[in-house]
Amino acid sequence: MSNSLFAVFSAVVLIGLVYSGANLLTFTAAIGAAALGFYALGGLGELGLIVFAAIYLPIAVVLNVPGLRRGVLTAPIFKAFSKALPAMSPTEKDALEAGDTWWEAEMFGGKPDWSKLMNVKYTELTADEKSFLENETEELCKMLDDWKINFELKDLPQEVWDFMGKKKFFAMLIAKEHGGLGFSPYAQSCVVAKIATRSLTASVTVMVPNSLGPGELIMHYGTQEQKDYWLPRLVDGREIPCFGLTGPEVGSDASAIPDTGVVVKRVVNGKEELGVVLNFSKRYITLAPVATVVGLAFKLKDPEGLLGDKNKVDYGITCALLPADTPNVQIGRRHFPGAVFMNGPIIGNDVYIPLTSIIGGREMAGKGWRMLVECLSAGRGISLPALSAASGWGMYLATGAYARIRRQFKMPIGRFEGVQEATGKIGGLTYKLEASRVLTATACAECAPSVVTAMMKYHMTEMMREIILRSMDVHGGRTVILGPRNYLGQAYQAMPVAITVEGANIMTRNLIVFGQGAIRCHPWVLKEMQAAQNPNKEEGLRDFDKAFFGHLGHIFNRAMRALVLGLTGNRLAKSPVSGPMADYAKAIERRSAALAFTADVAMGVLGGELKRRERLSARLGDVLSHLYMATAVLKYFETNGRLADELPHAQWAIEDSLFEIDKALTEFNRNFPNKAVGKLLNFVAYPLGMGKTKGPSDKVNAEVAELLMTRNAFANRLLDKVFVGEGLSDPTGRILEAADKLLSIEPGYSNFLKAVSSGKVVGEGLEAQLKDAVAKNLISPDLAQGIREYEPIRFDAILTDDFSKDYLRTNGQIPDEIIEAKPVTEYKAAA
Ligand SMILES: Cc1cc2nc3c(=O)[nH]c(=O)nc-3n(C[C@H](O)[C@H](O)[C@H](O)COP(=O)(O)OP(=O)(O)OC[C@H]3O[C@@H](n4cnc5c(N)ncnc54)[C@H](O)[C@@H]3O)c2cc1C
Repeated sequence: MSNSLFAVFSAVVLIGLVYSGANLLTFTAAIGAAALGFYALGGLGELGLIVFAAIYLPIAVVLNVPGLRRGVLTAPIFKAFSKALPAMSPTEKDALEAGDTWWEAEMFGGKPDWSKLMNVKYTELTADEKSFLENETEELCKMLDDWKINFELKDLPQEVWDFMGKKKFFAMLIAKEHGGLGFSPYAQSCVVAKIATRSLTASVTVMVPNSLGPGELIMHYGTQEQKDYWLPRLVDGREIPCFGLTGPEVGSDASAIPDTGVVVKRVVNGKEELGVVLNFSKRYITLAPVATVVGLAFKLKDPEGLLGDKNKVDYGITCALLPADTPNVQIGRRHFPGAVFMNGPIIGNDVYIPLTSIIGGREMAGKGWRMLVECLSAGRGISLPALSAASGWGMYLATGAYARIRRQFKMPIGRFEGVQEATGKIGGLTYKLEASRVLTATACAECAPSVVTAMMKYHMTEMMREIILRSMDVHGGRTVILGPRNYLGQAYQAMPVAITVEGANIMTRNLIVFGQGAIRCHPWVLKEMQAAQNPNKEEGLRDFDKAFFGHLGHIFNRAMRALVLGLTGNRLAKSPVSGPMADYAKAIERRSAALAFTADVAMGVLGGELKRRERLSARLGDVLSHLYMATAVLKYFETNGRLADELPHAQWAIEDSLFEIDKALTEFNRNFPNKAVGKLLNFVAYPLGMGKTKGPSDKVNAEVAELLMTRNAFANRLLDKVFVGEGLSDPTGRILEAADKLLSIEPGYSNFLKAVSSGKVVGEGLEAQLKDAVAKNLISPDLAQGIREYEPIRFDAILTDDFSKDYLRTNGQIPDEIIEAKPVTEYKAAA
């Protein structure tokens, strides 16, 4: 073998070893063997071999003898790392360590074990849950008239409040042993979402007691007495809970609450007891105006050492149960957040509660922040995704139907390419939303996935926002004009609520997703940090050594994987499936490797500065989020049995995510402060340029847009989930029924309109034209009858509401003033 051939062979072997993640010993041995090979072939003389050995042997020995390595190499690195590690407050530490990682960690790791995703079994509804959806939830939806609620009552009707309490809508997450419904996260998501397709106000009202709040906190951390007293009362609706964290001075940085609780001794009913005197000002608190018990977050202080530790004054964030009728509590006033669910401020001056009111009792004093962070997943991973998906479901169906029945320029508007850009997007995003909802609800049943839920909070509510905006565009004036016929205006008005709550979106994207993801999902970083913080320095050094060298191997391996996969057009990547998703899986795997390498280099070069470089870290968070969502879509498509109708939806959704990933990564690299490093990162991620990914093609967009206007398999699945009121007087029922009727007379109806337009059919007015068309054998009498029936329904479906001046002026207090649009008896064909 010639030297040059051997050089190529050696390079391939070494690249192969790095690519496959061989251990340090194998790799060092391979380098030694390569040198001996060159020596044997004459490519390296004796002197060369001696020089090589003089350099190689000490390095190889130091690297591969653990005790030596720790002393010579790791110890100084460990010292520098420990010094550079920013000091973390207990609050930050709690937030970082709370919750679990899940499938997203595989994506972050850069070499996903696809079997983990493919083995996930979606949660299925139990018989009880199914029955609750089909009966109680359906019944509740029938009781909801969203226009009346929003405009006339500015509240839910009392019978709705009573029904929700009686049927335990507020106790879905409370376990059966305490009398609650004990529903799975998926079932809770389905209930909240179905209600949301009818009334946002009702769904938020149900959401709140079932997410972060007294119910969940007592379930997880409450003392037995608290569980025995409060849970039955929350279950049957005797108590309405709310949770108060936010105040005028504290929003996103919730850990900085200025509200205080001071431990005191008081004589109550002749007996001395320990208690807490609270001073607080809260705002934006959902359900506060009707709440009977507040889960209150405040900072606990014990200046007199009454809790037993004379040296500890500041205990930190603590959560307590505060009955709303406690003296000195001001509660009941309302904010108006664009929807009429109950929301308002709570103020307390020198409010006394016994120490036993602390959730979890005295032992949980100061542990409130960890409790909150651990429990955030319900809101972020279940309720808000449910709300977002529900918007998608509703808009997919209604916008598709409207785009089909509304004609302008002699065409259904859904056939114009410009409109299709919007409707295709609505379809693709809805598919992505639904796939993400189902997967994430399953994750929430398996663990408390803090990174996944932060990603989903941000991306799903943003997708909802996009869907609502695009749907508004497609409907034009039909959904600008508010009134009982409008099924979209309320969602548009209240959309910022979902964007703001449970971690405002900008902050969640820029600070939390990658910040938390990088540390929690990385296979080595948290281990390195924990080792550096270990008070037992010897143990810390040993752990650090393992983590640090594991980390180095990880960086080289992921860089090589990204590069090799990029150079080979993803051919060496694995796919867990065959068929239309296989190439997507490979494209995802390559980007996962690129993210792993990029994240490591970014953390290495920028260190703690990366946290402040929010524009940069947000982009890496976007990459991780879109990798997760793309795999959610792949899983959903495969699990549903690769339906032909779903394929364009899945293609749109994955291509959109791949495009967003590429955009985020290339922008990250372009804006990286060190230009040379940025170029290197870009080369590793895209050695052949950006490749084929350009986002969903026009063809895929058109296919989804066309499907949106039909009863396809995905639409039928959505129809099973949404609430549609009966008959033509229902806001969504009206539009869906019109579209269904139209589909039953197509393509004959379009041909008839064309014949009218071309002059083949003549006559003044629809009836004359129908008669002429039948007489000329252009349409059958049955079709003529179908068109006759369809036309009034169509006309009714495109109408908007108008009211008397007094009705609007008096905010609906003068009843029965809506002037219903009168159906016309004679229609001109809409050609
Ligand atoms: C309708 C409604 C219901 C609510 N219900 C409740 C409830 O029941 N209980 C409760 O305790 N709270 C509740 N909240 C409060 C909600 O959680 C807060 O509004 C939210 O935390 C944001 O706080 P803020 O509105 O004060 O915005 P700010 O914190 O002032 O933020 C303003 C903007 O700055 C951004 N920002 C802040 N810090 C950063 C950062 N480091 N990096 C990037 N961007 C940043 C935010 O993303 C946001 O866009 C509710 C709010 C609303 C509107």
